[in-house]
Amino acid sequence: MTAALPVERLLEDLNPSQREAVTATSGPLAIIAGAGSGKTRVISRRAAYAIETGAVPPDQILLVTFTDKAAGEMVGRMTTLGHRGVMARTFHAAALAQLRHFWPGRHDGAPLPAVLDSKLRLLVPLIGRLPGGYRFTPAKDMADTIEWAKVRRIRPARWVHEGGDRAPIPADLFARVYRDYERSKSEAGLLDFEDMLVQTVELLEADAEAAALVRSRKRWFSVDEYQDTNPLSERLLELWLGESRDLAVVGDPDQTIYTFTGATPEFLLGFADRHPGARTVTLAENYRSSPQILELANRLVAGGPRGALRATRPEGPRPAVHRFADAEAELREIVAWCRAVGAAEVAPAETAVLVRVNAQLPAIEDALTRAGIGFTVRGQRFFDRREVREALRLLRRDRPAETGGALVAAVERLFVERLGLDDVAADAGSEGRERAASLELLLGILEDLAAADPALAVDAVLAELDRRQVAEATDSADGVNLLTYHRAKGLEWDAVYLPALDEGLLPIRQAKEDEEIAEERRLLYVGITRARRFLALSSSSRRPSRFLVALEPPRAVTPRAARGVAGGTAGRAAGRVRVLPGAPMATAAVPDDGLLEALRRWRRERASTDGVPAYVVAHDTTLAEIADVRPRSLPALRRVRGMGPMKLERYGPDILAVIDGAS
Ligand code: ATP
Ligand code: MG
Repeated sequence: MTAALPVERLLEDLNPSQREAVTATSGPLAIIAGAGSGKTRVISRRAAYAIETGAVPPDQILLVTFTDKAAGEMVGRMTTLGHRGVMARTFHAAALAQLRHFWPGRHDGAPLPAVLDSKLRLLVPLIGRLPGGYRFTPAKDMADTIEWAKVRRIRPARWVHEGGDRAPIPADLFARVYRDYERSKSEAGLLDFEDMLVQTVELLEADAEAAALVRSRKRWFSVDEYQDTNPLSERLLELWLGESRDLAVVGDPDQTIYTFTGATPEFLLGFADRHPGARTVTLAENYRSSPQILELANRLVAGGPRGALRATRPEGPRPAVHRFADAEAELREIVAWCRAVGAAEVAPAETAVLVRVNAQLPAIEDALTRAGIGFTVRGQRFFDRREVREALRLLRRDRPAETGGALVAAVERLFVERLGLDDVAADAGSEGRERAASLELLLGILEDLAAADPALAVDAVLAELDRRQVAEATDSADGVNLLTYHRAKGLEWDAVYLPALDEGLLPIRQAKEDEEIAEERRLLYVGITRARRFLALSSSSRRPSRFLVALEPPRAVTPRAARGVAGGTAGRAAGRVRVLPGAPMATAAVPDDGLLEALRRWRRERASTDGVPAYVVAHDTTLAEIADVRPRSLPALRRVRGMGPMKLERYGPDILAVIDGAS
């Protein structure tokens, strides 16, 4: 332990509300505050303050974080404050350690069962036995729904009554898969991720001795990102707490972004009711972002009872809001923007591009690679994805002999027949969409290669994909950060770019209910509030996101006037950030409902003639985009997202006829 400094140092650079929270070291405490207001900072200071004032011995503290990475950082912060060895863990990691300790004593000496690294292994065969097209339901989406059920403690037998229609397949079928999954898991002697919490909860509920021992070890708790706790982790927390009242929870209801896994901000909002005598502190000042960025964030999310975010940082350049006619123009801007913020002396590692889904990343990776800009993929890499690995294996094994355009068609046929492209229920959930998007993306790469080289053979394709895989894998640890909004939680960078703010991506197509749309809005709020000085938002679709449209400055149609004022030392670079208007569009496209209706009718008929589900013929967004764009030729139709060569061949002429008939 480094030398203990006077305790005042822990308070010096805090504002009065932060100080109030740090010095409230006993009893229940809720810190409800907006992004960048110092919540996470307060947690570490408060723990250090409690130790140094003798409120709690260091070894009785448990700081609960949302991810293992955040736990590591918290330990780092405590070490810097002179308190090495204070425990920071996720709910799961802490529960697992307890289970491991108690399990043998309660199971005739048997060690803790292995933890299933992924539900998919058990789910895939069960899904394969489902009737008809349901057998193509992505296992990941089934796994998400099982997780949702388990954190709400809904058993398979109760699913039909309590699960509503949230499963990707009919409730009775889902209940069956869920039941069989639980059965095969226990037959294999395994636990899954939620079981770690379920089993710990059951242990502590049933075994007073174990509960007493656990409570004697840790009795002073802080939970960060508490707006995303779920009923199961909340129950565990209650059991850990026992009679102790030393619980501090920290969160921002407007950053709730995990409701699809069963999380709910109700625990944060109802904290004072459940813990009589609780103190509630709100933090209003933001220490992260420029006033210009906060103005945007406050326009997107009003902040409710905790109020708007108040700026304390110096003025910065006004966030750029662009609309581009196509994805290429947007990618060019991302590259130019990375260079421009680099020229403003922002290190690549202090720069991030955030996306809604992983499948958006490869196009960006490729653009950066071509431009010689290093990047770091945070989270899953494209070439590590299961379907991408399957696709590459397939190409290596099958080696289609065709060349050029015929090769593209042959590969697409392979993907359709062997990997279920076209059958993937992209409407069913996030994984279906990601899987289809990955395969489409590989085909897109092939098409580009074939366009450049009509004699393209499979060897050249494999060599190019290898090159990209290596480029992705050798991501420089200090490159531009590429990650999803969900992963960006709690983090911050000097410069943040939020591309593809398109209807269908953000808000994501599956979000239909008001509550789901509200969560998409919160995601964008999380994205915007990650930025310290530079922020850019853009759309490259005919249907820009409703959120982007609402955030555009009034005169957005004249690109230069719209992207204004730079401030401070960043002036020149910000000026460069503002140029490159690409091809902004004057108005949002107005959907043609008559044509859309006609397209839907055609889809219904075609699906029933072919005996396939409607989504196999075309997705809703594809039809919507066709209705917008009204393509008059096959090449024009090909440019609509979701119209691969196979679909073009099968349905292209029909679709053009529908368009013709409707005009
Ligand atoms: P999020 O909601 O995004 O998780 P947060 O509320 O947890 O944000 P922190 O990450 O703790 O906010 O702090 C945001 C930034 O502001 C950090 O860089 C932190 O060091 C800085 N900061 C916090 N409080 C102060 C302060 N009183 N003075 C100066 N800087 C501060
Ligand atoms: Mg935080």
